Amino acid sequence: MSSAFSHLRRGLAPAAKSILLAAGGYRAIRTLAPSRGVAILRYHAVCGPEGYAYAEPGICVSPEAFDAHIAYLSAQYAVLPLPEAVARIKTGRALPPNAVAITFDDGYADNLGAARTLHKYGVVGTFYLTAHCLADGQPFWPTEVKTLARRLPGPSVTLTIPAPLTLPLVTDADRNRASRAFTRLCKGNPIPVRNALLDQLRQLAGMPAAPTATMLTWDQVHEMVRLGMDMGGHTLTHTNLPSAGPEDAWKEIDGCRRALRERLGEEVTQFSYPNGGAERYHTPDLHAMAERAGFTGAATSSNGFSSLTSNPYALERVEIEERLEDLVFALEVERFAFRPKPRG
Ligand SMILES: [Zn+2]
Repeated sequence: MSSAFSHLRRGLAPAAKSILLAAGGYRAIRTLAPSRGVAILRYHAVCGPEGYAYAEPGICVSPEAFDAHIAYLSAQYAVLPLPEAVARIKTGRALPPNAVAITFDDGYADNLGAARTLHKYGVVGTFYLTAHCLADGQPFWPTEVKTLARRLPGPSVTLTIPAPLTLPLVTDADRNRASRAFTRLCKGNPIPVRNALLDQLRQLAGMPAAPTATMLTWDQVHEMVRLGMDMGGHTLTHTNLPSAGPEDAWKEIDGCRRALRERLGEEVTQFSYPNGGAERYHTPDLHAMAERAGFTGAATSSNGFSSLTSNPYALERVEIEERLEDLVFALEVERFAFRPKPRG
């Protein structure tokens, strides 16, 4: 999150935010100065603390909080299916005032419950799936490295791939640091090096490569489609695309669209670039690949609001907050500080 945003979000006391929400202050803002852009919300896992075993706590929202979000958003905002918002951005057709779209990255099994909640409120979400890493596929490496870091025998681990590295594994904090170090190595290297690193970690931990049961099954995905949800692509194996090189990046982008079409029997139109964060995870070359593959839009993890001037292949999204008063504060206060970027 940019420092200006985080400063704004943390700048107001929680009690003041609750009072603003309860007193209808935000409703007044929406009526008097409606948003002309679209807040594309970026969810991941919808789970309680049991989910911290497979997803970072910072990307988990409890099912109760999620229900409260959607109850409020569906009553107070124009919640659009993302493909419709993207079509308007591409044609310059005005967005309805106070437009919001709802997206999920990765394809966690708990997203089925989120889809049922969205359906209950008559809202469509876009779920970006890691096409080869659902429950009956390959391991989803961001979850697997967390498991491996917990299971490796201590008091230290020595890697030879991609370069000699020894990390202590004495305390829980050591293991969390090791998990973050493995994640950085998986993001920062081409796919063959990442896979060799994962193999090495599995051998050291004495664990086979096992699919991750915490991801959606295809039966669950089909159920979500029956509930009217929109499926999108998030690569084949959650590859950091700039590290992969153009050939493998294309396979991950176009292959994911093909794999999803084969499984779903229809085209998917939306894509999101994995591994947002401090490191580079999308580039103009990758935007062009997403377009060439046939996606109509592609979302980043940059925090901000999208608008009619946004690049449809570099859409900005709003980082979500668990507490409704924090989320609505983000939607109603940050948008005045956010300057839309020119298309490019
Ligand atoms: Zn992801």
